[in-house]
Amino acid sequence: MLRSPKRTFTLSNVLYIPHITKPLLSVQKIYCDNNVYFKFHASVFYIKDLSTKTMLLSGHSNDSFYVLSESSTTTISQICWSPCISATTNQWHRRLGHPTSRIFNLLVFKNKIMCTSRRSLVQCQTCLLCRSLRLSLRPTGHKITAPLDLIFNDVWGPAPMFSSNSFRYFIIFIDAHTKYIWYFLLVAKSDVFSIFQCF
Ligand SMILES: [Zn+2]
Repeated sequence: MLRSPKRTFTLSNVLYIPHITKPLLSVQKIYCDNNVYFKFHASVFYIKDLSTKTMLLSGHSNDSFYVLSESSTTTISQICWSPCISATTNQWHRRLGHPTSRIFNLLVFKNKIMCTSRRSLVQCQTCLLCRSLRLSLRPTGHKITAPLDLIFNDVWGPAPMFSSNSFRYFIIFIDAHTKYIWYFLLVAKSDVFSIFQCF
């Protein structure tokens, strides 16, 4: 029997060897008897509940073995915030919910998190988008009374991935009166002019 704050693990049909210095556990046995699964990393491993995915137990690797000691039975919050789980600065930034660089550097300074490299944080696009402000347009005094009086257009791209037909940009034309939208896909940004002429 193996206890953790969240679960007591049972093992049936174990082989008893009286003089063995370190008991060995079969991953497959724990898996089958307790409805859990394992996640192995180079320096750490986790045991999670198969249906709820809740973290139940963690341990560390030592001398090519994954060790489940008494200290492994840590609480869930300790496991989640373990500084031993190293990651890149950008991975930590995303995991911690996009903190500011001042808070992030403080966590690194106090050894609360362990980064795989000393590289400073690469500018995060999500942070830039979330912290940018949208300016409202001033009234122009231009009155639109009929379709095609005024057309707005915008080009978007490049997309982070190619579409199945190798498109990475699109251009839209919006009729200000009817709000009708024309939408054209582009392989390259240089195609904008030819689309513009056709339109
Ligand atoms: Zn961010």
